[in-house]
Amino acid sequence: MNLEENLKSVKDRIEEVCRSSSRKPSDVDLMLVTKTITSERIIEAKRLGHRLFGENKVQEVVQKWSIPELREIRPDFIGHLQTNKLKACLDGCGRIHSVDRMSLVEALDRELQKRGEQREVFIQVNTSGEASKYGIAPVEAVEFATQIARYQTLKVTGLMTLAIFSTDKDRVRECFRKLKALHLKIRESGVFTKDFTHLSMGMSSDFDVAIEEGSTMIRVGQAVFGTRSLPDSYYWPGASS
Ligand SMILES: *Cc1c(COP(=O)(O)O)cnc(C)c1O
Repeated sequence: MNLEENLKSVKDRIEEVCRSSSRKPSDVDLMLVTKTITSERIIEAKRLGHRLFGENKVQEVVQKWSIPELREIRPDFIGHLQTNKLKACLDGCGRIHSVDRMSLVEALDRELQKRGEQREVFIQVNTSGEASKYGIAPVEAVEFATQIARYQTLKVTGLMTLAIFSTDKDRVRECFRKLKALHLKIRESGVFTKDFTHLSMGMSSDFDVAIEEGSTMIRVGQAVFGTRSLPDSYYWPGASS
């Protein structure tokens, strides 16, 4: 498994999909998802010039990202955030993609106020309706956005979703369309500034569809680092396999 080659082929694919859907490749950020990947391999990706990374578990952030070679990079946090891990998450990560409930908003606000900081976050939406997925329900998203906008410590710049796990591309596409439509609706409601621009959607199996539907940030692990040994159910309770 050659990291450089894999990275190149993912980037080529991004360009290809952008070209066929009249989008600019520079408008789609490639996040490398490094869950289960060792610090050594992350450093290898860094040497290839890559800077945008994502982690799913706070424990892995603490274990892997505190070494000197990686200290200057703060990975985005993309997993379910428990409030008891919130401080370590704020210490070790940059943006948080998984803000999905008011109790988390309040806990983040309390801690950020204490630190005198503002943090960039995304709202996670459960576009597939699957019970195994986190995120707020699409029908509640606008109201949630209105509430979160009152917190000065949180700068909301986008929405995030995980599409349904399905080989049926139409059902996957439906999830991305839902997120895009919600993004528009929230933009039009005027609760956020013009910096509310991101759609964090698409992973190894579906990033081409996500780009066609307007993704501005794809989160790719396996297509670059190879198949993970741990099943998805370890990361998403209730997921199959
Ligand atoms: C693991 C993960 C990804 C990437 O999945 P791959 O199949 O490795 O591309 C994307 N988003 C989230 C939230 C993840 O946990």
